[in-house]
Parts: sequence; C-alpha cells; structure tokens
Amino acid sequence: MDDGSAVLAAALMVDAAYDHAARGWPVFVLGDGKTPLPNCTRCRTADGTHDMETCVCLTCHGFYAATTDADRLAAVICAHPTGVLAVRTGAASGTVVVDVDPRSGGAATLAELLAAGLLPPTLTARTGSGGVHLYYAHPGGTIRSGAGALGPGVDVKADKGYVVVPPSRIGERAYVWADGGPDSVPVTTMPVALLDRLTTLPPAPRLTPPAASNPFAAPVDASGRLAGIVAAVLAARPGERNTVLNWGAYTASEMVRTGAANVEGVTGALADAATRIGLTDREAHATIRSGLRAGGVA
Ligand SMILES: [Zn+2]
Ligand SMILES: [Zn+2]
Repeated sequence: MDDGSAVLAAALMVDAAYDHAARGWPVFVLGDGKTPLPNCTRCRTADGTHDMETCVCLTCHGFYAATTDADRLAAVICAHPTGVLAVRTGAASGTVVVDVDPRSGGAATLAELLAAGLLPPTLTARTGSGGVHLYYAHPGGTIRSGAGALGPGVDVKADKGYVVVPPSRIGERAYVWADGGPDSVPVTTMPVALLDRLTTLPPAPRLTPPAASNPFAAPVDASGRLAGIVAAVLAARPGERNTVLNWGAYTASEMVRTGAANVEGVTGALADAATRIGLTDREAHATIRSGLRAGGVA
C-alpha cells in the first residue's frame, strides 16, 4: 500500500468507526490477526485494584478500551491505522451477536436454529471466514458470551464479548454487511425462545471454595473462575476443543494480568485438562500460549 492509499484507508476506517459509534456501539481496534493490542507497561503491571472499565489508556485491556468518543476514536486509529475495527457486544452496545462459523460445523447448527424459528431476520454481516454475524437487540440483564453456546460452530457474543465489524478486513477477507447493512436493516429484538435456549444451557460449574483455614489461599473468586474454565475445557466436544481451550486461556489471561492467578498455574491447569480430552501436550501448549497472548499476557 502506498502512502496515499494508506491515508485513504485510515480515513475510511475513521468514518466507519464514527458510524458505529453513532449507533451507540463502543468501538475499539484489534491488532493483526484479530488479537487485542498489548497493554502498556503500567497496565500490565497494575495490581488487582486497577479498574479496566475506567482506565484512560487508549488501547489497553482489549474491549474495555472501546469508546463512542470521536476524539478518542480518531486518536486510536491514527496510532493503529492498519488495525481491525471491533465493537463491544452485550449491554455496553445493546447487542447480542450470534456468530456462525461454518469451519466449526456452524452451517448445520444454523440450519437447525433457523428451522426452529429461533433466528428471525435481522441486521447481518458476512464475516471474513465465510460465516455470518446476526445482530440482535440485547434484552437486558446479563447475557453471557460463549463459544458454541447455541451448538457446534455457533457462538454468542454478548456481555464481555466483541465482534469484528465491517468494513474491516483480515488478509484478503473482508467483513461486509448483507442487504445494505444498518441503514436499511433494523436490529431485531432477541426472541424470547432464543434467550430461553441460552439460559437453559447448563450453568457454569459450582466450585468448592478453598479451605477457609488458610487466609493466604488464592482468592475464591480466582480459583473458582479457573475451575469453571477448566470444567468448560473438559466438556469440550471434538471439533471445538481447540476453540474452547483458546477461549479458556484468553479468559484466564485477565486473571493473570490482574495478578489473581499466575501464568504457570493457569497454563498447568489448562494443559492438564486439554490432554485429558485428547489434545497432545504440544498442541495444548501452543493453543494456550496463543490464547494468553491474545489476552495481553506475553
Ligand atoms: Zn495502559
Ligand atoms: Zn489500564
């Protein structure tokens, strides 16, 4: 790309970011390969009291940096003109996105969900991997994000989640709106039956708090969250094992960054779970490293 087209690309990106922000969608920028940008040294070494939601850094803490503020968006894109635009999902933007990835069996699940009448027509984007993102209006309350939450290859991006948005492109593959996009297609309210299907999924595993006799034991919160992640990895089906493991490492990275868990402990627990469900040690460690890196843990 020569200088002129690079400037034009950045200008188009700023325009698109402003459009998304005008819809009330907080926008942030991902680095190459859809991974969040690394945290600054101050945020990386901050203790557990550091509030990611109110942190003033332009790009730290992944989706927590998402904003609808025009000046901040312009500054972020100036600093990362080749980045990938992403939008925070969940209550923060009032969206729940159903993410269909045909590479993980999503086409069959999509057909089943459509046949059951669970996915009414709504604003839709075609993703860079040949899948689709269906945008529904967030019904309020908490909607958990989850890999495979609606079946193989169909994830839900809601609270504590994000999606890459048009007109981003990753390599040769572009994210594009279907049917004219947000100017002509409304965001449909999430059907109650779809919500029911999500909320009737098995709840996150309960954990036994560590023995109360040791006041220096890891906080219940962190060990509990790690146990929940490990349980999810153990429950992963063939075809989604790497995806779930990657999600697990990414999710656990926040605990490492905030000092609630250490990287060796997280890696050990996840690798142990991964080898039990049939991944090789080498495969498991590569996926864990990639998930942790995506979460800003080098
Ligand atoms: Zn920072
Ligand atoms: Zn910070």
